[in-house]
Amino acid sequence: MTATIIDGKAFAARIRAQVAQEVTRIRSAGVTPGLAVILVGEDPASAVYVRNKGKQTVEVGMESFEHKLPADTPEADLLDLIARLNADPAVHGILCQLPVPDHIDADKVLAAIDPAKDVDGFHISNVGLLATGQKAMVPCTPLGCLMMLRDHHGSLSGLDAVVLGRSNIVGKPMAQLLLGDSCTVTIAHSRSKNLAEVVRRADIVVAAVGRPEMVPGDWIKPGATVIDVGINRIDAGFKDDGSPRTRLVGDCDFDSCAAVAGAITPVPGGVGPMTIACLLANTLTACCRANGLEEPEGLTA
Ligand code: NAP
Repeated sequence: MTATIIDGKAFAARIRAQVAQEVTRIRSAGVTPGLAVILVGEDPASAVYVRNKGKQTVEVGMESFEHKLPADTPEADLLDLIARLNADPAVHGILCQLPVPDHIDADKVLAAIDPAKDVDGFHISNVGLLATGQKAMVPCTPLGCLMMLRDHHGSLSGLDAVVLGRSNIVGKPMAQLLLGDSCTVTIAHSRSKNLAEVVRRADIVVAAVGRPEMVPGDWIKPGATVIDVGINRIDAGFKDDGSPRTRLVGDCDFDSCAAVAGAITPVPGGVGPMTIACLLANTLTACCRANGLEEPEGLTA
């Protein structure tokens, strides 16, 4: 079997187009969605993410508010900024790019964001709402995975799903979303026994472990759908000028998994592009909820 490749880049472009269309609709009603992104320090990877988020926010017709703070910003100043953004009616979504420097308590920062503006879905209120099956702001990466799975399968009801990884930002919310769609869900992690056997039972495998190419094809049930969240940079020899070459790989061994699976997301070009698209979708959702406007279909869980 050769798997269908689930093209996250194309899917994300469709989501952004839908968001842009909805933004045009609500702007004509006098409301412009606004997303505020806070970056503390100069971590180069975070700076690239923040730049991309700002660019894509403007491209879909929303307001982008970027707040770049020095690495030595006191925690109290960051919390003051969040309080101002919470109170600002032009801001519908607030995101503080993680990680924050060591002297700042990330949990305190996440708790300070108004849950209604928490477009990352990390506030404990949103975690609780999601866990109890209520209307929540849903973390962007698992939301993107869910959208791709729904698009591929239609109904997920009754399917066996295995989530590899139990982080608060991917594994746990992913498991809650799959449960919400009536999958039979197993969460596996570094202490799980007989991983290969556990994964072989699954109709859906979501891998979010951060271990390059850890899942081989012989763990995959023939015809299963594999969603590879991992983004791992590995050595890939040398360039002509002798400098080291690297490449991105997922948590699944793509070639051997694609030979067995029914469908699979590639890395890069799978889950990655969906994350920012879902951030924009969440900002639109938050804006609609704040203004009592009808929520667009298909952009949240
Ligand atoms: P994380 O916080 O490091 O969590 C990794 C999880 O994997 C943990 O629950 C850990 O188990 C489990 N794990 C580690 N080694 C394992 C093993 N050998 N067998 C089974 N489970 C194992 O990572 P994360 O933030 O969830 O991210 C996971 C991956 O997704 C990373 O590659 C990250 O870069 C990527 N990611 C991508 C996006 C995107 O936009 N595409 C977004 C977020 C993350 P324990 O809990 O027992 O330690």
